[in-house]
Amino acid sequence: MRFFLGTHQPDWLARTSVPLFVSYRRLANRKTLPRAIGPWALDSGGFTELSMHGEWRTAPGAYLTAVRRYADEIGNLAWAAPMDWMCEPWIVQNTGLSVAEHQRRTVANFQQLRDAAPNLPIVPVLQGWSLDDYQHCADLYDKAGIDLTSEPLVGLGSVCRRQATTEAALIVTTLAARGLRLHGFGFKMHGLRIAGHHLASADSLAWSYEARHKPPMPGHTHKNCANCRPYALAWRTRVLASLPAWHQPIIDGLEAA
Ligand SMILES: [Zn+2]
Repeated sequence: MRFFLGTHQPDWLARTSVPLFVSYRRLANRKTLPRAIGPWALDSGGFTELSMHGEWRTAPGAYLTAVRRYADEIGNLAWAAPMDWMCEPWIVQNTGLSVAEHQRRTVANFQQLRDAAPNLPIVPVLQGWSLDDYQHCADLYDKAGIDLTSEPLVGLGSVCRRQATTEAALIVTTLAARGLRLHGFGFKMHGLRIAGHHLASADSLAWSYEARHKPPMPGHTHKNCANCRPYALAWRTRVLASLPAWHQPIIDGLEAA
């Protein structure tokens, strides 16, 4: 399992070689870009965009142009999320559409991005709410001629806010049993402990929320460590060390932290 540390600070790409997870929303308005010294993955920021607007306001062409620029100028881009449609009930309510329509749009967007830029590492994402939804979404990819078992990575969406539940564990194990190499979006420590061994990779910003409610580390002068690199790296080391050995965490870059 490869773990991507979530950060709000794109500058970290130039300052640590641990795998990082950065949102398009944090990079979109920047004139200059950092050069990554370690692998990183790009989140499309869909959850925020659909929460705020009830629709995608970013055009697929603009997103692709940005991904291409990040791949060239930042470098070391492991993969990028598509412009997928999350299926949490409150997001579906926000868009006024149905889970089935979110899934249809998620698959159609992936197909559009892949067709337009087959050389960019954009990953397909499964969206849904119930286990049957996810199976249906996998079938939609199949019908579109996309063999998910031959993809290096398949994102698993809309699970992060219920990752510690039996249902989430069942979704992860069932999809992994279909032969998919899954990325768990936004997994926290407990979710990783129960399902991490079925994931090829995961990302988390949980450290930042945790730090916001705690006093800063000794000697730190900021109000809290919610955007603090030493705090985040120490948290990451602790999380990976706490996972059972059968999770086989890949701690690439840890030594260089
Ligand atoms: Zn700090």
